[in-house]
Amino acid sequence: MTARGIDLTSKVFDFDLFVVGGGSGGIRASRLASQLGFKVGLAEMDRLGGTCVIRGCVPKKLMVLAADYSSTFDGARGFGWQCGAGAFNLQAFQHAKDTQIDRLEGIYRSNLLRAGVKLFEEQAEFEDAHTMRLATGTTLTARHILIATGGTPFLPDIPGIEFAMTSNDVFKMQELPRRLLICGGGYIACEFAGIFNGLGSEVTLCYRGPQVLRGFDDDIRRHLSLAMAERGVNVQLNSNVRSISRQSGELCVVTETGDVSTHDEVLFATGRRPNTDSLNLKNATGVKLDRSGAVAVDSFSQSSVPSIFAVGDVTNRVNLTPVAIREAVAFVDTVFANKPTCMDHSNIPTAVFTRPEIGTVGLTEAQAADRSPVKVFMTKFKPLSNTLAGRDEQYLMKLVVDRDSDRVLGIHIVGDSAAEMIQIAGVAIKLGASKEDFDRTVAVHPTAAEELVTLQQPVRTT
Ligand code: NDP
Repeated sequence: MTARGIDLTSKVFDFDLFVVGGGSGGIRASRLASQLGFKVGLAEMDRLGGTCVIRGCVPKKLMVLAADYSSTFDGARGFGWQCGAGAFNLQAFQHAKDTQIDRLEGIYRSNLLRAGVKLFEEQAEFEDAHTMRLATGTTLTARHILIATGGTPFLPDIPGIEFAMTSNDVFKMQELPRRLLICGGGYIACEFAGIFNGLGSEVTLCYRGPQVLRGFDDDIRRHLSLAMAERGVNVQLNSNVRSISRQSGELCVVTETGDVSTHDEVLFATGRRPNTDSLNLKNATGVKLDRSGAVAVDSFSQSSVPSIFAVGDVTNRVNLTPVAIREAVAFVDTVFANKPTCMDHSNIPTAVFTRPEIGTVGLTEAQAADRSPVKVFMTKFKPLSNTLAGRDEQYLMKLVVDRDSDRVLGIHIVGDSAAEMIQIAGVAIKLGASKEDFDRTVAVHPTAAEELVTLQQPVRTT
């Protein structure tokens, strides 16, 4: 199998590859193609690094780390330390974080230039299937064009939505809100609930569904929701924001059931939409979009127009940085290295940097049980670190195992370092490990992770 109609003619173009978007996917593709000796241009209208580096994963993780200090100080007393949380200075944090982000952006820039990529720091839109027009009016032709423009926060159209922040605004916030309402129950809403709770805000999480993190394993969702509430987040399920208004300097929120509350800030984390609006795609006649506005692509990331490919969040497949990077590598292998490669979107390990943290890979219990009979192994336990720290919070670890083949189909963890654990556990899943393989693996003691290889009796079979 190979990508359709790749243009191998001797027709002269300005570039072999022109990339629109300098985020994780676009940067990786342009560097790799350039290093293979192809002539590559890249247009970015904002900062290099994209959502992940500038207003997503990296600054978010720095905020998670900042927020974690409060519980570290708190727990330290149980270990004999005479200390407590001092005051958190958000402005000092933002300054330190911005310095780090500037440094990373600089590294991306120099790596691109060192690889020989020609950089255009301006907007680019389609003139036709092989031609881009830059904001300055210059037109450039390319044998192949890669759309890697990512996504942008989506805000529902409700009265007063102009008073709400998005995740983009959080990274510029200079004053910690005393009371924060977060609308949404996905990755971003739950992560920021943990961050602001850790930093000392009174957080209300307002989610329209019956349980947060739709699509995740049900035991994980319940465990997280209860643990967040235990840590002080006011989790309101089956509740949605109907309107926001500003009254005497406060934000007044009315829910669909008529509840009224006041907050200093309101954050909407109600999903993201692919960035296709500014591309003038109608000029590249025939590029199909799906119902969400994402560029529809095949397993080679090729759009309905043979010269145009797309990777990352703009395709709305699995919206994670490492996935965009892998899609970019597969694209370059296919188009420029004569190695047709499909990205494998199965069994992608992922973490949600909630407090407590989630790590998950493979099928949920419900997904697995839909396919074949399963055995479920699960344990909840209080880790050693929480004993002296005086906390009751428990870990949850769960293995979903195919009853017939004994293969482990899913691993789900809630607790400290779940993200680190799931990266390694993901290798076992990729290798098709069986429960017996887990049982044969000697535990590392004393750790939380050892529970993964000492689970004895199933709690359920289907
Ligand atoms: P998600 O799709 O994860 O969650 C969106 C949430 O908003 C859902 O709870 C959804 O409810 C709710 N929602 C959607 N529309 C409305 C509406 N009109 N009114 C009220 N609620 C609404 O999106 P996020 O914005 O949290 O994150 C975007 C993506 O970014 C994620 O899917 C993930 O791929 C990626 N990401 C990954 C991270 C990581 O790897 N740790 C961290 C952050 C983001 P419902 O469930 O009912 O549809």
